[in-house]
Formats: sequence, structure tokens, C-alpha cells
Amino acid sequence: MRYFEIREFACKCCGQLPPSVEQNLLALVEHVLDPARERLGMPIIVNSGYRCPKHNAEVGGVKNSQHLKGEAADITCADNKKLLEIIKQLGNYDQLIRYKRPDGSIRFIHVSWKRHGINRKSITGARPH
Ligand SMILES: [Zn+2]
Repeated sequence: MRYFEIREFACKCCGQLPPSVEQNLLALVEHVLDPARERLGMPIIVNSGYRCPKHNAEVGGVKNSQHLKGEAADITCADNKKLLEIIKQLGNYDQLIRYKRPDGSIRFIHVSWKRHGINRKSITGARPH
């Protein structure tokens, strides 16, 4: 945890951050976000990290969303295309989803990391979350 603080990943609706999800978030930062931030050289904003079940439902998240487990974050920066390329190059991710604007530019990036099991290295376009 070099470029981020754990509070940035607390639920945006209620500020909750259960101890049970903290280890997953720390692993996400260690394996994905800190190395990407290091190479990117500019700030990364966490739009959504952990989501409590109520908030996840409110934003239309899937029932088994990795946000519920602290395994995923929605992130943006001043150059989302570059950020996406960097994460792909570094090669450490479970799921990488690009959410686009109508003009085709990247609105935000969903990225996840699993502490246990296989990281699938799946890259997809926008889908309902
Ligand atoms: Zn909440």
C-alpha cells in the first residue's frame, strides 16, 4: 500500500469497510493498483471499491459482484486508455472491464484480483454491473 489509503476503498454509501474484506483490498493494491500507479506516474481515483450489499444493489451490481468481497475497484485517471494498457502490460488481474462513453473513450475501468484461486486475466467491454 504505497499510493493508496485503505479508506479510499470504503463503501461510498455508508463508509463501511469490514475487516474481512481488507486483506483482499490490500492484495488488489499490492498486485494491481500500486504497480499500475507507479508506471502511470499520475493519480488514480477510486470511484468504487468495497460495496455493502445495499449499495451494490442500488448501483445495479450483480449479486456475486467482486466489489462485495473487496476484490474489485472501479478506477479512473486523466488518461484511462494509458491506464488500461499499463494494467494489461503488467499482466496481473482477474477481470478487466472497460466502461466506455458514447464517443468510445473510456469512462472508467473495473479491475479485480483474487487472493485465492486462479486469476482469469479476462478482458471485456462494458456490461451491466
Ligand atoms: Zn454502504
